[in-house]
Amino acid sequence: MSSKPVPQSVIIIGAGIFGLSTALAIARRHPSTKITIVDRLTPPVEDGTSVDTTRCIRADYGDPLYAKLAEEAQKKIEQDPELSRFYFKQGMSFVAEGTPGPMLDLYKKNLAAVRARAAQGLGGDPIEMKSPEAVFQSIHGKTAQPVSNASLGRRKRWNIGYRNMDDAFIDARESVRIYYERCLAQPSIVFRCGVPVDRLAVSGQQATGVILENGQTLSADLTLVAAGAWSNKLVYLDDLIVPSAIEVAWIKLTDEEVVKWKNMSITTNFDTGFNLFPPYRGEIKCLRRSAGYRNTVLIPHPEDPSKTIRTSLPRTVVTNPTDQIPLEAEKALRDNLREMMPQLADRPFDRTKLCWLSQTPSADFIIAPHPRIAGVHVATGGSAHAWKFLPTIGDLVVDSMEGKLDGKLAAKWAFGTKGTSEGNAPRIGGAAQELAHVVRSRL
Ligand SMILES: Cc1cc2nc3c(=O)[nH]c(=O)nc-3n(C[C@H](O)[C@H](O)[C@H](O)COP(=O)(O)OP(=O)(O)OC[C@H]3O[C@@H](n4cnc5c(N)ncnc54)[C@H](O)[C@@H]3O)c2cc1C
Repeated sequence: MSSKPVPQSVIIIGAGIFGLSTALAIARRHPSTKITIVDRLTPPVEDGTSVDTTRCIRADYGDPLYAKLAEEAQKKIEQDPELSRFYFKQGMSFVAEGTPGPMLDLYKKNLAAVRARAAQGLGGDPIEMKSPEAVFQSIHGKTAQPVSNASLGRRKRWNIGYRNMDDAFIDARESVRIYYERCLAQPSIVFRCGVPVDRLAVSGQQATGVILENGQTLSADLTLVAAGAWSNKLVYLDDLIVPSAIEVAWIKLTDEEVVKWKNMSITTNFDTGFNLFPPYRGEIKCLRRSAGYRNTVLIPHPEDPSKTIRTSLPRTVVTNPTDQIPLEAEKALRDNLREMMPQLADRPFDRTKLCWLSQTPSADFIIAPHPRIAGVHVATGGSAHAWKFLPTIGDLVVDSMEGKLDGKLAAKWAFGTKGTSEGNAPRIGGAAQELAHVVRSRL
């Protein structure tokens, strides 16, 4: 494998986890390289996928490649004096309906992976929950009784599960702020925030930098596109990445509720896609790994502005601040709450959002040189599971820029790789709905 030096100047489009982590990795390895990070907004970017109240940190992937990388990243987070202040190792419960099908298969595969890791001394044994009572009691205590099928109006869906106490959650916003401040402290890194990149500046088949929406050109030897769910505007990704969004909601708790639930684990259901976080800063966050929503727009072809392409691009809490999650999404969240958190099922949401993600069909990232334009590298396709790699992903992106990324990872993250998901970031089935048809406004 031939090694290529990182050039003297690099522009990074995007100050999410991919962009910030890469900037720091370049600054560490190549202190004389001049790095410019460009973002639409100043980090922590309010509607960036990396910025949220919480993210899960876990190494219990069924896929050994991601499991190893996640284990290294989790250790680094735990050893980081600043990040570890915002890191809470309270475990994660994975629950299933228990009816035969792909989600039960995935549940069994992941449980086997946790057991195998424990057998190798890489983690604790999973705590099994063999009934709906045990699942419910894992949050509400040993004497609590689950809601009956009669009052649910359907059969229970939270029936069997296991709890992995090695899993954790982290304050994602604070962590991104910490990484932003680390970048600011580097003499070789500057930020240009507030004006989005309109397009790559390309001469022939060679990129020379970027053109901002105000017409200004910024030049660099190498441009990294790490623009998350917006990347399709800057690089032609065809159907390699479909930007889509999933629903998130927050509910305020009373002080008594915070005390009652403070030690619960993150609790998720493979079949319903529902994900419930422990109380944090006086509220509970829930989300659903649904088939999601897309926002189809017609934009200039990134490689040939004389043509147009149809793609989905984020419509967010920043661009459309009065948007609320669609009714169907709210109903699905409340239906899950009714079974697992009945006290909260009818409580008003404090706020909701659609969180946009850059989703590849296989849930593998894309970290690779642009196949047609020299001087461009791509690091995106986080697919609802990249956050946890914050401390390590930048080094892997720089390995890729230098042409020395481990062969298996290079193949997994190659530009153009398709394939089906191995369950690394499972979402429930179905096609994403067009947001314009279902969007609601708070006003
Ligand atoms: C609801 C939800 C839950 C998730 N949960 C987890 C989890 O528990 N654990 C986990 O590991 N992962 C999780 N993920 C995935 C993880 O959050 C993402 O994979 C990761 O944050 C993606 O980072 P990014 O840098 O690609 O994108 P972003 O953070 O979105 O960064 C991209 C940046 O590019 C900027 N940008 C875009 N276009 C332009 C432009 N034209 N000009 C200038 N700047 C531009 C944007 O403003 C943005 O700041 C979750 C994702 C979602 C949506």
